[in-house]
Amino acid sequence: MAPHVLILPFPVQGHINPLLQFAKRLSFKGPKTTLAITTFIINSINIQTDQVSCAPFSDGYDDTGLNGARDNIEAYFESLRTIGSKTFEELIVKQMSSSCPFTCMVYDTFVPWAVEITEKYGLPCVAFSTQSCAVSSIYYHFNHGLLDLPDSGATVSSHGLVPLERFDFPSFTFRDGSYPALAGLSLNQFNAPQKSDWVLFNSFDELENEVIKCLKEHWNARTIGPTVPSKFMDKRIKGDENYTMNLLKPERDLCINWLNKKPANSTVYVSFGSFANLQEEQTQELALGLKQSNKYFLWVVRASEQDKLPRREEFIEGEDKGLIVAWSPQLEILNHVAIGCFLTHCGWNSTLEGLSLGVPMVAVPQWTDQPTNAKYVEDVWGVGVKVKVDEKKVVRRDEISRCIKEVMDAERSEEIRRNARKWKEAAKQALCEGGTSDENLNEFVEFLNASSC
Ligand code: UDP
Repeated sequence: MAPHVLILPFPVQGHINPLLQFAKRLSFKGPKTTLAITTFIINSINIQTDQVSCAPFSDGYDDTGLNGARDNIEAYFESLRTIGSKTFEELIVKQMSSSCPFTCMVYDTFVPWAVEITEKYGLPCVAFSTQSCAVSSIYYHFNHGLLDLPDSGATVSSHGLVPLERFDFPSFTFRDGSYPALAGLSLNQFNAPQKSDWVLFNSFDELENEVIKCLKEHWNARTIGPTVPSKFMDKRIKGDENYTMNLLKPERDLCINWLNKKPANSTVYVSFGSFANLQEEQTQELALGLKQSNKYFLWVVRASEQDKLPRREEFIEGEDKGLIVAWSPQLEILNHVAIGCFLTHCGWNSTLEGLSLGVPMVAVPQWTDQPTNAKYVEDVWGVGVKVKVDEKKVVRRDEISRCIKEVMDAERSEEIRRNARKWKEAAKQALCEGGTSDENLNEFVEFLNASSC
């Protein structure tokens, strides 16, 4: 039987992106791949890929998806688990009686309920973490009582992690009662894998060497990343032009035409990803900090966030100094020669994308795993600086402007740029033929071939 891998992402932008790229790399190496995507997402995005099939299932929110449940995320998770698991099972049943049945399932660690369902049909289940190895290790060890939050002012460094202070930990380890369902999902996501199970990480060995070694003590752990489209990295996958799936429509021509008129390394790209909401005060400080930096800036402010901005003339000098868009083609932007700095919330995809495309970063973490990613950006990989917050947990305009200058103009910026170039090259090497992630993927394909016989 030919290997056919069913891949189940958690249905949000930051999880679909890496699993789609993983699916493409896998199908490039032979196995057939099918992404299980919710009805809402399948209906709302233009999926243009020949390499990967998509199969719909319902999360009970066919008209709105998670966005329609922002005020009650708990209800969405419950619906995804109950209705989603039923319709996901129907999808499996249908395919199993076809001429091309599934032979394996790769599930996002945010949807662990898929394991029980899939095992009923005798399929091996493989976990995929869309977070860094360090963050995955923290969640796993913390949740199993093997890692404690350090006292204020102290650090912990075990399980291959660098010394971390309290505020470097993912926000859900503080158990402050916020977003209980999301906190539960994050903390419990590694309960399902057993010792011998494959657990795949969107990272690469060179980037997280020590921590991946430690994770191998628990699982058959492998890095297969970065899941940045081949078009921007090794260029081995042909026809990778329609490389991504966007839930919001990117304002591509506007962004690229605007950037084309800017000098090399002159512009700050600002994005807080698909989910984070900034407080109004923070949005205003950021706007004024960008103005104060006196750099060009291209800032993604989702439509739902745009009311928080100051009046245009208060922070954009002249016609051309700043551009606000509701969604961008982020990878093309980061790959553009005009970009000299990425001011990011440090979602794991954005962090890896900035790193893989060699863009120095200003890290402005908000919650979940972002503080940990920001710590690694500044202190471990040396590709950027992390902002300091004031007593109200707001990053002030002076600090924003200071950090941008530190990354783009100060003495330290040369070293940051050197590190950024180094990691860009290392990321590419990991994906090229014979690179660490490429070899790990080959090994995984051998497993798929053997288990589908
Ligand atoms: N992204 C994009 N256009 C934008 C902003 C973000 O294409 O204007 C993409 C970005 O390239 C990344 C994903 O959306 O792949 C965001 O994932 P991340 O993990 O960085 O953050 P999240 O949205 O999960 O907080």
